[in-house]
Amino acid sequence: MRKELNFDLTPLNTFRMKVRCACFIEYDSEEELTSLDFESLPKPLKHIGGGSNLLFTGDFPGTILHSRIRHVKYVDLGLDEVPVIAGSGVVWDKLVEELCGHGLWGAENLSLIPGEVGAAAVQNIGAYGVEFKDIVTGVVCYDLKERRKCKFTAAECAYGYRESMFKEFPGRYIITSVLLRLSRKPRPRLSYKGLEGVDASSPAAVREAVIKIRRSKLPDPEELGSAGSFFKNPVISAMDFAKVIDAAQGEAVPHFLLEGGFVKVPAAWLIDQCGFKGEKEGGAQVYEKQPLVIVNGSGEASPADVLELERRIIASVHERFGITLHPEVEHII
Ligand SMILES: Cc1cc2nc3c(=O)[nH]c(=O)nc-3n(C[C@H](O)[C@H](O)[C@H](O)COP(=O)(O)OP(=O)(O)OC[C@H]3O[C@@H](n4cnc5c(N)ncnc54)[C@H](O)[C@@H]3O)c2cc1C
Repeated sequence: MRKELNFDLTPLNTFRMKVRCACFIEYDSEEELTSLDFESLPKPLKHIGGGSNLLFTGDFPGTILHSRIRHVKYVDLGLDEVPVIAGSGVVWDKLVEELCGHGLWGAENLSLIPGEVGAAAVQNIGAYGVEFKDIVTGVVCYDLKERRKCKFTAAECAYGYRESMFKEFPGRYIITSVLLRLSRKPRPRLSYKGLEGVDASSPAAVREAVIKIRRSKLPDPEELGSAGSFFKNPVISAMDFAKVIDAAQGEAVPHFLLEGGFVKVPAAWLIDQCGFKGEKEGGAQVYEKQPLVIVNGSGEASPADVLELERRIIASVHERFGITLHPEVEHII
């Protein structure tokens, strides 16, 4: 167990915001976690993973918790389906690499998503037509309210698009491990745009293709700080969509029709239409290749720079299209 006071969080958030927390605790096992004297820790408490979906808006006055539970266990029953138990502190992409290396299908489309296993279960991460919910069967947690270990089935986790039951009870459940179900039988899912026709001879081959596409589109957090997609794609009514079409002045509006007559419009397109591609605010910048991403372009961007750029984007998109964008990145206040 590691406990540090006035701890520098710069390496623990992919935006590379230079912020500190009053107290930092990193535990190596479930036993270490449950033995903590939570009452005595500076509040609030916040559990983080790789910090790849977070924007620290300033120094954090409480305690940051981080898991180093890093076991990966295979339950080989000689069947086509292989249950795998992974600790919450396992780096997600290391796990995917390992699973693909064993010829197990299911996680390959989720290659190169930053972060750790615990957060994958909170976020229901998704990419290229696959979501975490498609391979998870159970999640093991420590319930901070009841002070006891608990388990949830995938159905109880109530997964939706980047949503889960865990988001409804922020801070209550600390995820310690997840149970996944992979397949020995080939199960390539290549219908998503960009993946059609790729080599699907093995999960590792699909993983390679996914990595190649992702590298061409998204910034590598090791080289350029960001938290991935900064805004959610807005889901609007047909009436609001008609207003967007008017405001687009003849430009074709990309969109996806959803159930109930709702329409999803790519936030990247709205931001681009407002002329924000490459736009800077202090050290923060809208990523040239993908306007949905705000990057720490100078490496020295402050939380205030990012927040001001966010504010300007929201105001411009609202003024031009009448749509309010909402951040996908969690703001830690
Ligand atoms: C370049 C880039 C590309 C990305 N691409 C994708 C993508 O394709 N698809 C996608 O879905 N996401 C993507 N993301 C977003 C991000 O990688 C995911 O949201 C990821 O799951 C976050 O993992 P993390 O470990 O960094 O979690 P953090 O950002 O540290 O935390 C995320 C949330 O999970 C909670 N949490 C973390 N660990 C635990 C735990 N053990 N128990 C309870 N709660 C916990 C935190 O409190 C927080 O609320 C991308 C991000 C970047 C920077």
